[in-house]
Amino acid sequence: MPYNVYLADRGLPGSQIPADLRQAVASDLRSWFTEILQMTNSPVGNTAAVTWVDNRPQIQPYELLIFFVQSQSYSVLQHMPRINVRNRTRSGLTGWNGAFTCSEVYIDFGTRFLSQMAFHEAMHNKTHFDNQRLHSGDGLARESLQSPGAPSANNKTLMSQHILSNKPQWLDGFRY
Ligand SMILES: [Zn+2]
Repeated sequence: MPYNVYLADRGLPGSQIPADLRQAVASDLRSWFTEILQMTNSPVGNTAAVTWVDNRPQIQPYELLIFFVQSQSYSVLQHMPRINVRNRTRSGLTGWNGAFTCSEVYIDFGTRFLSQMAFHEAMHNKTHFDNQRLHSGDGLARESLQSPGAPSANNKTLMSQHILSNKPQWLDGFRY
């Protein structure tokens, strides 16, 4: 049984992420999350499966979902009720309320670093670290992601400590 990471392309018709790029992003994230799972005593197996979905997936409370939206104007997260934490940067946004967590990445920020942008939001998503706390780290924890990097050793250690924590994802995001 793998650990599931779901990716949802909510880009505007005609501006969605090309199939080859979707594959590349899934491949990056599968390899990074599998490395991280292998640092844990994961009861759910130590392999990540990364799947692009068009509709709400069957997802466990410890698994992860990342929305890709066109830009801040098309934010899914802006519709989350009772949201109390938002960690926005130019490349994406992760927020949560008392029950659910949601991450989105902005396609218009640039498609060259979608894997890095998604991993950064995944770090906010699973750790619930705010910008100040997360961005003081190195590698993909930093705010500026305009480089083709992979997660640093520190990034992987941090995520290995949080990846299995229950952070139920906000599936109502698929309504927007
Ligand atoms: Zn951030």
